[in-house]
Amino acid sequence: MASDPLERPDVVEVAGGVYVRVAVDNMAWIDLGGAALIVEALEQAHLADEVAGAIASTLGDTPVKYVLNTHPHGDHTALNGFFRQRYGAEIINQRVAPMGPEGRWFEGPRRRAQMLPMPDCHTPYDCVVWLPDARALFVGDVFGWGLIPLSRELTDAAAQLLIETHERLIAFQPEVVVPGHGPLCGAAELLRWVEYFQWLREGVARAVEAGKSDKQIAAELPPPQDMHGWWRFLLWKHEDSLGKVVRAIRSGALSA
Ligand SMILES: [Zn+2]
Repeated sequence: MASDPLERPDVVEVAGGVYVRVAVDNMAWIDLGGAALIVEALEQAHLADEVAGAIASTLGDTPVKYVLNTHPHGDHTALNGFFRQRYGAEIINQRVAPMGPEGRWFEGPRRRAQMLPMPDCHTPYDCVVWLPDARALFVGDVFGWGLIPLSRELTDAAAQLLIETHERLIAFQPEVVVPGHGPLCGAAELLRWVEYFQWLREGVARAVEAGKSDKQIAAELPPPQDMHGWWRFLLWKHEDSLGKVVRAIRSGALSA
């Protein structure tokens, strides 16, 4: 889709000193007071100068002290080396700096942030980042605008974890939710995704039980009207999610 606005990044100040560069790959820089904390480090190393310029134009010469990756996939880590070299920033993710379930706090005179492991919805290394004063929650690739985020098999246990993790995220009562990719959203979208997932699961189980073909199932479970505006949902995400649920139900790994 040539008209996808996210091909052109937009820097949004979601709270005082909290800037999110909204694009296909999101990243943020946060003024803790005298030091900046980065969340996510993009996929393309050639964006280093552009990003450094945007940080300087919003935070002045505040040094970058920490770079947090919600998980160590290549589309979240490309600028780690740049920030380490330019500022001596500490790189933090569950692969290079593992933390326990209680997570880790980053505090400054202006703001504080908490990084908290919430593993296994997307990768074993998944973390979220919570800014309590701004009520902003960075959820990495746990929420993907209609995607089932798992990079492993969809089973009953995995489905249970997905739902429980979304409930934990909603319980923060965030005002701003920053997914790893695409537009910002709020707690309502997290809740809607859980309902959508349950609807797929129950609908597919019922249809498989009744002996329906994949084509009939797709016709019975079209993209819900209220989700048509979700980022790239009609383009491919609904079809992808439906396919995953159909395969999991047919194989017996997932039940209703
Ligand atoms: Zn990922």
